[in-house]
Amino acid sequence: MTHEAILNLHIHTPFSDGYYRYDQIANAALASGIDAVIVTDHNVWVKGVERVYQNDNRRVLLFTGEEVHDQARQPQKNHLLVFGADRELATYASQPQQLIDQANHAGGLTFLAHPYDPAAPAVRQPDISWEDWSIQGFTGLELWNSFSEFKSRLKSLFHAIYYAYFPAQIALAPLTQTIKKWDELLKSGRQIVAVGGSDAHGLPIRIGVLRRTIFPYEFHFRCINTHVLLPEPLRGELGADRQAIYQALKEGRAFVGYDLPSPTRGFRFLATGVHGTVMMGQKLVLENGITFKIKLPSPAECVLIKDGLPIKRWFQRDLCTSIAREAGVYRVEVYRPFLGQRRGWIFSNPIYVSNR
Ligand SMILES: [Zn+2]
Ligand SMILES: [Zn+2]
Repeated sequence: MTHEAILNLHIHTPFSDGYYRYDQIANAALASGIDAVIVTDHNVWVKGVERVYQNDNRRVLLFTGEEVHDQARQPQKNHLLVFGADRELATYASQPQQLIDQANHAGGLTFLAHPYDPAAPAVRQPDISWEDWSIQGFTGLELWNSFSEFKSRLKSLFHAIYYAYFPAQIALAPLTQTIKKWDELLKSGRQIVAVGGSDAHGLPIRIGVLRRTIFPYEFHFRCINTHVLLPEPLRGELGADRQAIYQALKEGRAFVGYDLPSPTRGFRFLATGVHGTVMMGQKLVLENGITFKIKLPSPAECVLIKDGLPIKRWFQRDLCTSIAREAGVYRVEVYRPFLGQRRGWIFSNPIYVSNR
């Protein structure tokens, strides 16, 4: 039996450049119906604040990781999200490989934050993409980052104001360059876990007489979430739940869901071969062929992708099956219309099919 938990990650607080405190973030998460949040402030790991928050109906887990980058570097590229290391790692910021090694040594997970993050000259924001591609041993990458996508669309200050008022217009899909890079890394034979992040800051802005919070936390928590698949339901115990969630993230038993157009809860991507059935993040041996089964929470456009290329597409379906006779890295993308545009809705982690 599989149990699903909804996680919102990559969140900032006043410990770096975010606006909400932990309790405000937890209240926003409780109101949004998600199960857990991971706060990652810039170059500071905050100890002793992880806890289970509860109201009359719900509970939410709050974990703290860290977003590490070298502040002396210009521009300040190579941002790394670290979860579960339980120690300060900012001292290694200038050496990405050493940083990853130290995080691994501490039992942590590492995700490349906003791997492609183009400059937005209209709002004086530099390019802060990941640059050091010689790295090894990291867990995965942030496939869909709300803020990078926002930045990529800011052709003028007018766009910034427009999106501040109509934030639901912004998210269309992960940036193409990020998807391409992920496929490239997967093709090299590595297992790279994709997550979706908010990069939530909730900052109030003032332009002339206009005052507006760009992407309130409450809004982020209803948008791009990482859904993890667990063998047992969450218990509301900090230690056990944290371990279950981090283990699912480590293995890639997860998908990225844009929950605003319609809930993505219930999506499943399974593969069955002679030795049994596996889910996303897992491996399977080809033998005589395998059958993929894709379940969508509601009918949509579904694309099966092998080694970076679409091999099958379904429209208006909520159950899709396909037989494969070749080894490769298989993953699923799902699209649906929302507010007049075709939007990315669900991005699965891969199933790795090998010949032996
Ligand atoms: Zn960053
Ligand atoms: Zn950030």
